[in-house]
Formats: sequence, C-alpha cells, structure tokens
Amino acid sequence: MGLSFLSAVLAVVLGLSAALNTTQGTPGPEATTTQEPRHSGITSRILEVNKDIIQTLMEGDVAVPRKRNAMRCFSDANSCKWPKSFNGMVEVPYHISNYFYASEKAAIVGAMESFHMNTCIHFVPYTGQTDYLNIGSLSGCWSTLGRSGGKQDVSLSVYGCVSHGIIQHELLHALGFKHEHTRSDRDQHVRINWENIPSGNAYNFQRGNTNNLGTPYDYSSIMHYPKDAFSRVYGAETITPIPDPSVQIGQRNSMSAIDIIRINRFYGCWWVAVAQG
Ligand SMILES: [Zn+2]
Repeated sequence: MGLSFLSAVLAVVLGLSAALNTTQGTPGPEATTTQEPRHSGITSRILEVNKDIIQTLMEGDVAVPRKRNAMRCFSDANSCKWPKSFNGMVEVPYHISNYFYASEKAAIVGAMESFHMNTCIHFVPYTGQTDYLNIGSLSGCWSTLGRSGGKQDVSLSVYGCVSHGIIQHELLHALGFKHEHTRSDRDQHVRINWENIPSGNAYNFQRGNTNNLGTPYDYSSIMHYPKDAFSRVYGAETITPIPDPSVQIGQRNSMSAIDIIRINRFYGCWWVAVAQG
C-alpha cells in the first residue's frame, strides 16, 4: 500500500515535471533507459526494472488480482478471457496515461497493432466500457493475468518498460498468458536449478497445471524467462534448456510465431489460424 501510494505520488510529481517540459523527448538522463537496454541478450530487463518491487508480484511481473485467483486463468476455460464481439473480434479497451510522451504512446499503440495484424485481438480506445486496461507508468513492468474485471492496471514504467517486446509481454499477461517456464511439461525442456534460486523466490518457478493449447514448448516465446532469472549469484543459471543448454531463452524483441498461434487458439479465432496456414 505504501509503495503504491509512493509510486502514485512519484508518478504525479514526475508527470508534472514532464508536463512543464515543453521540449518533447528531452525529459532528462533517466529517460534514455527507455530506449536502450542496459544489457542485451538474454538478461531480462523486466526483472531488473522490477527488482525493488518484486516481492509484490508473482513470477516477477504478474500482479495478483484481488478479485480472483490468477491461477484459474488457464484451468477455468473462460474466467479470464476477454469476450468476443458479434463480429468475432475480441475487443480489449485501453486507456493510456497522459504521463507518457507522444513517442512512448506511439510505442504502446505500435505494440498493440502488432496483435491486430496477426490475431483477432483488437485493442480499442476506452470509451466507458466496464472492463478495460489502464496503462500507466507505475513502479516497474507488470500486469494482472487476464481480464480481472473493471479497471485493471498495466504498468509500463518509462524507466525501462516502454519497448516493443516488453509491451507485448505485459499485454500477453493481460490477455491471460503465463510464463513459458511454468508450463506443465516444462521439465522435459528445461532444468530448474533450485540450488541457484533463493528460497524466497522458489514460488516463481512452480510448475503449473496449464493448458498448452496443443503447441510445443517454445524457447523463443516472449513469455519465456531468461537463464539467470532470480539467480542467487549474478550470472548463475536458474533455468537451463535441455538437452541443449546453449539454446537461447528470454528474448524480449517480439512475439514468436507460437505466441501468435496460442492467442488465436485460446480465443478461438480459427479463421486467423487458417489464414496463417
Ligand atoms: Zn511476465
């Protein structure tokens, strides 16, 4: 509660200073971190950005909703799905905070449009709908899992979260998708190195009773965590692909082909899947 309040106050203060800055795109040295990752490759920027608030989140960046058990998302068929419109499209209303610069809003909308091109998900501007995504720059990068009902926050901190892949990742959580490394069949594809995971973070690696939608385990998923996620020692692996440990995981560039197929299967958009071949 204190942290949320502090974040809100901080956001307001920073928002005011941003509003007073009339030169678009020159908010100060911190903002440069929104454009370039401090680490390239497999290091997860999400976990790094969230490291100070990690204890309030599940698996590093999934907010636990107050209204329902997030773990039901995949086991209870429609509990967290966004509804289909009469035309078969799944409309997800959103509101983007005015705290973001125009360039940051454009990045968020651009990530949304990447869903429009390949899936039946259609993000639409909020016009008073009951359920909608309230996208703001709170503390860190996080989302609730699936539709939680009413106004639900998605945090894309301007200090590290406003990049195409991270936006896609958080929007996928909001659509109901979990992290790949918690899949029911993950032990056939990755080894969890429990000795490298602090006991307080072990819950982030619990295997779930997931609906894998008939898709193969996807090392290239944008929902897969990197090899050193939550590591006790810097650089030590907590997740190792098997049998080939050199396989790359943890990319945050863009949704994989399988990520896209899952969206269409989860939401029953068979016609999009047919079009994709
Ligand atoms: Zn995540």
